[in-house]
Amino acid sequence: MHKISVNDREIVCESGETVLEACLREKIDIPYGCRQGACQSCMVRSLQGAPPLAAQDGLKEVLRHQNHFLACLCYPQQDMAISINPPAEFFTEATVIEKSLLNAETLQLTLQCKESMDYYAGQFVNLKRADGLTRSYSIANNRLHANKLSFHIRRLAGGRFSEWAHQELNVGDKLEVSDPQGLCYYLPTSQENNLLLIGTGSGLAPLAGIVSEALHHGHKGAIHLFHGSREMDGLYWIAEMQELAGQYPNFHYTPCISRGDAPDGVARGRANDVAMTLLPSLKGWRLYLCGHPDMVHQTKRQAFLHGAALQDIHADAFHVASATLD
Ligand SMILES: Cc1cc2nc3c(=O)[nH]c(=O)nc-3n(C[C@H](O)[C@H](O)[C@H](O)COP(=O)(O)OP(=O)(O)OC[C@H]3O[C@@H](n4cnc5c(N)ncnc54)[C@H](O)[C@@H]3O)c2cc1C
Repeated sequence: MHKISVNDREIVCESGETVLEACLREKIDIPYGCRQGACQSCMVRSLQGAPPLAAQDGLKEVLRHQNHFLACLCYPQQDMAISINPPAEFFTEATVIEKSLLNAETLQLTLQCKESMDYYAGQFVNLKRADGLTRSYSIANNRLHANKLSFHIRRLAGGRFSEWAHQELNVGDKLEVSDPQGLCYYLPTSQENNLLLIGTGSGLAPLAGIVSEALHHGHKGAIHLFHGSREMDGLYWIAEMQELAGQYPNFHYTPCISRGDAPDGVARGRANDVAMTLLPSLKGWRLYLCGHPDMVHQTKRQAFLHGAALQDIHADAFHVASATLD
Protein backbone atom coordinates (compact mmCIF):
# COMPACT_ATOMS: atom_id res chain seq x y z
CA MET A 1 0.00 0.00 0.00
CA HIS A 2 1.41 3.40 -1.00
CA LYS A 3 0.31 7.01 -0.80
CA ILE A 4 -0.18 8.86 -4.08
CA SER A 5 -0.35 12.65 -4.21
CA VAL A 6 -2.43 13.57 -7.24
CA ASN A 7 -2.48 17.28 -7.99
CA ASP A 8 -3.80 18.63 -4.63
CA ARG A 9 -5.17 15.34 -3.20
CA GLU A 10 -3.65 12.37 -1.43
CA ILE A 11 -5.02 8.87 -2.02
CA VAL A 12 -3.97 5.35 -1.16
CA CYS A 13 -3.04 2.75 -3.76
CA GLU A 14 -3.68 -0.73 -2.38
CA SER A 15 -1.23 -3.52 -3.14
CA GLY A 16 -2.09 -5.22 -6.43
CA GLU A 17 -3.88 -2.08 -7.56
CA THR A 18 -2.70 0.21 -10.38
CA VAL A 19 -2.50 3.97 -10.06
CA LEU A 20 -5.36 4.21 -12.56
CA GLU A 21 -7.58 1.87 -10.52
CA ALA A 22 -6.83 3.83 -7.35
CA CYS A 23 -7.64 7.14 -9.05
CA LEU A 24 -10.91 5.82 -10.47
CA ARG A 25 -11.90 4.34 -7.11
CA GLU A 26 -11.31 7.75 -5.53
CA LYS A 27 -13.32 9.41 -8.34
CA ILE A 28 -10.36 11.41 -9.56
CA ASP A 29 -10.99 12.73 -13.04
CA ILE A 30 -8.29 10.96 -15.05
CA PRO A 31 -8.48 10.19 -18.78
CA TYR A 32 -8.23 6.51 -19.69
CA GLY A 33 -9.13 4.11 -22.47
CA CYS A 34 -7.93 0.55 -23.00
CA ARG A 35 -6.46 0.06 -19.49
CA GLN A 36 -3.81 -2.14 -21.10
CA GLY A 37 -1.05 0.27 -21.94
CA ALA A 38 -1.96 0.47 -25.62
CA CYS A 39 -3.93 3.68 -26.08
CA GLN A 40 -1.72 5.77 -23.76
CA SER A 41 -4.75 7.89 -22.77
CA CYS A 42 -3.87 7.61 -19.07
CA MET A 43 -0.35 9.00 -19.44
CA VAL A 44 0.62 10.93 -16.29
CA ARG A 45 3.88 12.19 -14.91
CA SER A 46 5.86 11.36 -11.80
CA LEU A 47 6.92 14.50 -9.97
CA GLN A 48 9.33 12.66 -7.63
CA GLY A 49 11.86 10.79 -9.73
CA ALA A 50 11.56 7.89 -12.11
CA PRO A 51 8.37 5.78 -12.04
CA PRO A 52 8.52 1.94 -12.20
CA LEU A 53 10.10 0.94 -15.52
CA ALA A 54 7.22 -1.37 -16.47
CA ALA A 55 4.82 1.58 -16.35
CA GLN A 56 6.73 3.28 -19.16
CA ASP A 57 6.39 0.38 -21.56
CA GLY A 58 5.80 1.61 -25.11
CA LEU A 59 6.46 5.28 -24.40
CA LYS A 60 8.87 7.22 -26.58
CA GLU A 61 12.29 7.85 -25.10
CA VAL A 62 11.69 11.56 -24.58
CA LEU A 63 8.54 10.90 -22.56
CA ARG A 64 10.27 8.24 -20.46
CA HIS A 65 13.08 10.65 -19.84
CA GLN A 66 10.58 13.23 -18.59
CA ASN A 67 9.15 10.65 -16.13
CA HIS A 68 5.85 10.20 -17.90
CA PHE A 69 4.21 6.85 -17.38
CA LEU A 70 0.96 4.99 -17.95
CA ALA A 71 -1.24 4.94 -14.86
CA CYS A 72 -2.86 1.67 -15.99
CA LEU A 73 0.50 -0.14 -15.95
CA CYS A 74 1.81 1.36 -12.73
CA TYR A 75 1.98 -0.68 -9.54
CA PRO A 76 3.73 1.78 -7.20
CA GLN A 77 6.86 0.58 -5.46
CA GLN A 78 6.96 3.59 -3.15
CA ASP A 79 4.88 6.66 -2.33
CA MET A 80 4.46 8.80 -5.40
CA ALA A 81 3.52 12.35 -6.39
CA ILE A 82 1.99 12.57 -9.82
CA SER A 83 0.40 15.10 -12.10
CA ILE A 84 -2.42 14.02 -14.35
CA ASN A 85 -2.25 17.20 -16.39
CA PRO A 86 -0.98 16.75 -19.93
CA PRO A 87 2.67 17.64 -20.46
CA ALA A 88 1.73 21.10 -21.69
CA GLU A 89 0.67 22.05 -18.20
CA PHE A 90 4.25 22.22 -16.92
CA PHE A 91 5.40 25.77 -17.50
CA THR A 92 8.54 27.69 -16.68
CA GLU A 93 9.07 31.43 -16.83
CA ALA A 94 11.10 32.94 -19.65
CA THR A 95 12.26 36.42 -20.60
CA VAL A 96 12.45 37.77 -24.15
CA ILE A 97 16.11 38.53 -24.82
CA GLU A 98 16.08 39.09 -28.57
CA LYS A 99 13.66 39.92 -31.38
CA SER A 100 14.64 40.21 -35.01
CA LEU A 101 12.95 39.74 -38.38
CA LEU A 102 14.03 36.81 -40.57
CA ASN A 103 11.84 38.12 -43.40
CA ALA A 104 8.86 40.49 -43.62
CA GLU A 105 6.53 37.99 -41.99
CA THR A 106 8.74 35.84 -39.75
CA LEU A 107 10.04 36.90 -36.38
CA GLN A 108 12.93 35.23 -34.64
CA LEU A 109 12.17 35.33 -30.93
CA THR A 110 14.76 34.26 -28.40
CA LEU A 111 13.83 33.50 -24.80
CA GLN A 112 15.98 32.98 -21.76
CA CYS A 113 14.26 30.34 -19.63
CA LYS A 114 14.47 30.45 -15.86
CA GLU A 115 15.00 26.70 -15.69
CA SER A 116 17.08 24.48 -17.90
CA MET A 117 14.93 22.91 -20.63
CA ASP A 118 15.43 19.25 -21.42
CA TYR A 119 14.41 18.96 -25.05
CA TYR A 120 15.37 17.22 -28.25
CA ALA A 121 16.07 19.20 -31.40
CA GLY A 122 12.85 19.44 -33.40
CA GLN A 123 10.41 19.46 -30.49
CA PHE A 124 7.92 22.25 -29.82
CA VAL A 125 6.72 24.04 -26.69
CA ASN A 126 3.59 25.94 -25.84
CA LEU A 127 4.16 29.64 -25.19
CA LYS A 128 1.68 31.24 -22.83
CA ARG A 129 1.24 34.95 -22.33
CA ALA A 130 -0.03 36.64 -19.16
CA ASP A 131 -3.73 36.44 -20.12
CA GLY A 132 -3.43 32.69 -20.69
CA LEU A 133 -3.48 32.73 -24.52
CA THR A 134 -1.30 29.78 -25.51
CA ARG A 135 0.17 28.71 -28.86
CA SER A 136 2.63 26.02 -29.96
CA TYR A 137 5.99 26.99 -31.50
CA SER A 138 8.86 24.77 -32.56
CA ILE A 139 12.29 25.16 -31.03
CA ALA A 140 14.70 26.38 -33.70
CA ASN A 141 18.00 25.63 -31.99
CA ASN A 142 19.93 22.50 -31.14
CA ARG A 143 20.34 21.01 -27.67
CA LEU A 144 23.46 22.98 -26.83
CA HIS A 145 21.40 25.89 -25.53
CA ALA A 146 19.66 24.43 -22.50
CA ASN A 147 18.18 27.73 -21.28
CA LYS A 148 18.05 29.78 -24.44
CA LEU A 149 15.32 28.88 -26.90
CA SER A 150 14.71 30.46 -30.31
CA PHE A 151 11.49 30.39 -32.28
CA HIS A 152 10.41 31.47 -35.75
CA ILE A 153 6.97 33.02 -35.50
CA ARG A 154 5.13 33.74 -38.72
CA ARG A 155 2.71 36.64 -38.50
CA LEU A 156 -0.83 35.72 -39.52
CA ALA A 157 -3.13 38.64 -40.32
CA GLY A 158 -5.60 38.76 -37.44
CA GLY A 159 -3.69 36.06 -35.54
CA ARG A 160 -3.92 36.87 -31.85
CA PHE A 161 -0.63 35.46 -30.64
CA SER A 162 1.53 35.98 -33.69
CA GLU A 163 0.43 39.59 -34.33
CA TRP A 164 0.96 40.36 -30.65
CA ALA A 165 4.40 38.70 -30.65
CA HIS A 166 5.44 40.71 -33.72
CA GLN A 167 4.02 44.05 -32.65
CA GLU A 168 3.70 44.27 -28.88
CA LEU A 169 6.03 41.78 -27.24
CA ASN A 170 9.26 43.49 -26.21
CA VAL A 171 12.72 42.51 -25.05
CA GLY A 172 12.51 42.11 -21.26
CA ASP A 173 8.87 40.90 -21.31
CA LYS A 174 8.00 37.59 -19.68
CA LEU A 175 6.28 34.55 -21.16
CA GLU A 176 5.64 31.05 -19.88
CA VAL A 177 7.11 28.07 -21.70
CA SER A 178 5.73 24.54 -21.42
CA ASP A 179 7.75 21.36 -21.27
CA PRO A 180 8.99 20.35 -24.71
CA GLN A 181 6.61 18.13 -26.60
CA GLY A 182 6.21 16.23 -29.82
CA LEU A 183 7.76 13.22 -31.46
CA CYS A 184 9.36 14.96 -34.43
CA TYR A 185 12.89 15.10 -33.10
CA TYR A 186 16.43 13.96 -33.86
CA LEU A 187 18.30 11.35 -31.83
CA PRO A 188 21.94 10.63 -32.67
CA THR A 189 21.25 6.97 -33.39
CA SER A 190 21.64 5.16 -36.73
CA GLN A 191 24.12 7.75 -37.88
CA GLU A 192 24.46 6.13 -41.29
CA ASN A 193 20.81 6.80 -42.18
CA ASN A 194 20.11 9.41 -44.79
CA LEU A 195 17.90 12.24 -43.55
CA LEU A 196 15.34 14.12 -45.62
CA LEU A 197 13.90 17.30 -44.10
CA ILE A 198 11.10 19.20 -45.83
CA GLY A 199 9.58 22.37 -44.42
CA THR A 200 7.41 25.25 -45.55
CA GLY A 201 7.50 28.78 -44.11
CA SER A 202 8.38 28.81 -40.41
CA GLY A 203 8.58 25.01 -40.64
CA LEU A 204 12.26 25.67 -41.17
CA ALA A 205 12.58 26.33 -37.42
CA PRO A 206 12.55 22.73 -36.10
CA LEU A 207 14.38 21.50 -39.20
CA ALA A 208 17.21 23.98 -38.66
CA GLY A 209 17.48 22.72 -35.08
CA ILE A 210 17.60 19.12 -36.30
CA VAL A 211 20.21 19.86 -38.98
CA SER A 212 22.38 21.67 -36.48
CA GLU A 213 22.04 18.84 -33.94
CA ALA A 214 22.78 16.14 -36.53
CA LEU A 215 25.87 17.96 -37.81
CA HIS A 216 27.02 18.56 -34.25
CA HIS A 217 26.84 14.81 -33.62
CA GLY A 218 28.77 14.10 -36.80
CA HIS A 219 25.84 12.41 -38.54
CA LYS A 220 27.36 10.30 -41.29
CA GLY A 221 24.45 9.80 -43.72
CA ALA A 222 23.41 12.43 -46.24
CA ILE A 223 21.23 15.24 -44.89
CA HIS A 224 18.94 16.88 -47.45
CA LEU A 225 16.96 19.99 -46.48
CA PHE A 226 14.23 21.41 -48.74
CA HIS A 227 12.67 24.70 -47.63
CA GLY A 228 9.67 25.90 -49.57
CA SER A 229 7.53 28.98 -49.89
CA ARG A 230 5.29 30.46 -52.56
CA GLU A 231 7.64 33.31 -53.35
CA MET A 232 11.21 34.35 -52.62
CA ASP A 233 10.20 36.72 -49.82
CA GLY A 234 8.72 33.82 -47.86
CA LEU A 235 12.14 32.12 -47.62
CA TYR A 236 14.87 33.04 -45.15
CA TRP A 237 18.33 31.89 -43.99
CA ILE A 238 19.28 31.08 -47.58
CA ALA A 239 22.84 32.36 -47.18
CA GLU A 240 23.24 30.69 -43.77
CA MET A 241 22.11 27.31 -45.08
CA GLN A 242 24.25 27.61 -48.20
CA GLU A 243 27.24 28.39 -46.00
CA LEU A 244 26.53 25.33 -43.87
CA ALA A 245 26.28 23.21 -47.01
CA GLY A 246 29.69 24.57 -48.02
CA GLN A 247 31.15 23.48 -44.68
CA TYR A 248 29.64 19.99 -44.47
CA PRO A 249 29.87 17.83 -47.61
CA ASN A 250 26.99 15.58 -46.46
CA PHE A 251 24.57 18.50 -45.98
CA HIS A 252 22.53 19.56 -49.03
CA TYR A 253 20.15 22.49 -49.07
CA THR A 254 17.51 23.34 -51.68
CA PRO A 255 15.33 26.43 -51.34
CA CYS A 256 12.15 26.12 -53.41
CA ILE A 257 9.45 28.50 -54.59
CA SER A 258 6.17 27.42 -56.12
CA ARG A 259 5.30 30.69 -57.91
CA GLY A 260 7.17 33.08 -60.20
CA ASP A 261 10.66 32.81 -61.62
CA ALA A 262 13.20 31.02 -59.49
CA PRO A 263 16.63 32.68 -59.38
CA ASP A 264 19.81 30.63 -59.69
CA GLY A 265 20.25 28.19 -56.82
CA VAL A 266 16.50 28.10 -56.08
CA ALA A 267 14.29 25.28 -57.35
CA ARG A 268 10.92 25.96 -58.95
CA GLY A 269 8.10 23.86 -57.49
CA ARG A 270 6.70 22.80 -54.16
CA ALA A 271 9.39 21.67 -51.75
CA ASN A 272 7.90 18.18 -51.39
CA ASP A 273 7.56 17.68 -55.15
CA VAL A 274 11.10 18.93 -55.78
CA ALA A 275 12.42 16.58 -53.07
CA MET A 276 10.58 13.54 -54.44
CA THR A 277 11.86 14.24 -57.95
CA LEU A 278 15.47 14.57 -56.83
CA LEU A 279 15.30 11.68 -54.35
CA PRO A 280 13.01 9.04 -55.88
CA SER A 281 14.02 6.17 -53.57
CA LEU A 282 13.56 6.78 -49.83
CA LYS A 283 13.97 3.23 -48.58
CA GLY A 284 15.85 3.36 -45.27
CA TRP A 285 15.65 7.16 -45.03
CA ARG A 286 14.52 9.08 -41.95
CA LEU A 287 12.16 11.94 -42.75
CA TYR A 288 11.22 15.12 -40.93
CA LEU A 289 8.27 17.15 -42.25
CA CYS A 290 7.23 20.46 -40.68
CA GLY A 291 4.97 23.33 -41.63
CA HIS A 292 1.70 23.62 -43.53
CA PRO A 293 -0.65 20.73 -42.63
CA ASP A 294 -1.55 20.07 -46.29
CA MET A 295 2.12 19.75 -47.23
CA VAL A 296 2.81 17.46 -44.28
CA HIS A 297 -0.18 15.27 -45.07
CA GLN A 298 0.59 15.01 -48.76
CA THR A 299 4.31 14.41 -48.25
CA LYS A 300 3.72 11.56 -45.82
CA ARG A 301 1.83 9.74 -48.56
CA GLN A 302 4.42 10.59 -51.20
CA ALA A 303 7.29 9.47 -48.99
CA PHE A 304 5.58 6.18 -48.21
CA LEU A 305 5.02 5.58 -51.92
CA HIS A 306 8.71 6.36 -52.49
CA GLY A 307 9.72 3.58 -50.10
CA ALA A 308 10.02 5.30 -46.70
CA ALA A 309 8.77 3.27 -43.72
CA LEU A 310 5.93 4.94 -41.81
CA GLN A 311 7.82 4.72 -38.51
CA ASP A 312 10.68 6.67 -40.07
CA ILE A 313 8.45 9.61 -41.03
CA HIS A 314 8.38 12.22 -38.26
CA ALA A 315 6.10 15.19 -38.72
CA ASP A 316 4.73 18.29 -37.05
CA ALA A 317 1.87 19.89 -38.93
CA PHE A 318 1.56 23.51 -37.89
CA HIS A 319 -2.18 23.42 -37.36
CA VAL A 320 -3.44 26.89 -36.67
CA ALA A 321 -5.60 27.10 -33.57
CA SER A 322 -9.22 27.78 -34.36
CA ALA A 323 -10.43 31.30 -33.84
CA THR A 324 -12.70 29.99 -31.11
CA LEU A 325 -10.07 28.03 -29.20
CA ASP A 326 -7.69 29.64 -26.77
C1 LIG B 1 3.02 21.45 -33.20
C2 LIG B 1 2.92 22.87 -33.73
C3 LIG B 1 4.05 23.61 -33.94
C4 LIG B 1 3.97 24.91 -34.45
N1 LIG B 1 5.11 25.60 -34.66
C5 LIG B 1 5.04 26.84 -35.20
C6 LIG B 1 6.24 27.57 -35.49
O1 LIG B 1 7.36 27.13 -35.23
N2 LIG B 1 6.10 28.79 -36.06
C7 LIG B 1 4.87 29.34 -36.37
O2 LIG B 1 4.81 30.46 -36.88
N3 LIG B 1 3.73 28.66 -36.08
C8 LIG B 1 3.77 27.45 -35.50
N4 LIG B 1 2.62 26.79 -35.21
C9 LIG B 1 1.30 27.49 -35.37
C10 LIG B 1 1.04 28.34 -34.10
O3 LIG B 1 0.83 27.47 -33.00
C11 LIG B 1 -0.21 29.23 -34.18
O4 LIG B 1 -1.34 28.46 -34.50
C12 LIG B 1 -0.07 30.34 -35.19
O5 LIG B 1 1.04 31.17 -34.85
C13 LIG B 1 -1.35 31.21 -35.23
O6 LIG B 1 -1.67 31.66 -33.95
P1 LIG B 1 -2.35 33.08 -33.75
O7 LIG B 1 -2.80 33.17 -32.33
O8 LIG B 1 -1.48 34.15 -34.25
O9 LIG B 1 -3.61 33.01 -34.70
P2 LIG B 1 -5.14 32.78 -34.26
O10 LIG B 1 -5.63 33.92 -33.48
O11 LIG B 1 -5.25 31.43 -33.65
O12 LIG B 1 -5.82 32.83 -35.67
C14 LIG B 1 -5.53 31.83 -36.63
C15 LIG B 1 -6.07 32.25 -37.95
O13 LIG B 1 -7.45 32.40 -37.88
C16 LIG B 1 -7.79 33.69 -38.34
N5 LIG B 1 -8.84 34.22 -37.49
C17 LIG B 1 -8.70 34.67 -36.23
N6 LIG B 1 -9.90 35.08 -35.76
C18 LIG B 1 -10.79 34.87 -36.75
C19 LIG B 1 -12.18 35.06 -36.88
N7 LIG B 1 -12.92 35.56 -35.88
N8 LIG B 1 -12.79 34.70 -38.04
C20 LIG B 1 -12.06 34.18 -39.04
N9 LIG B 1 -10.73 33.97 -38.98
C21 LIG B 1 -10.13 34.32 -37.86
C22 LIG B 1 -6.58 34.54 -38.23
O14 LIG B 1 -6.60 35.57 -39.17
C23 LIG B 1 -5.51 33.58 -38.46
O15 LIG B 1 -5.26 33.47 -39.85
C24 LIG B 1 2.69 25.49 -34.73
C25 LIG B 1 1.53 24.73 -34.49
C26 LIG B 1 1.63 23.45 -34.00
C27 LIG B 1 0.35 22.66 -33.77
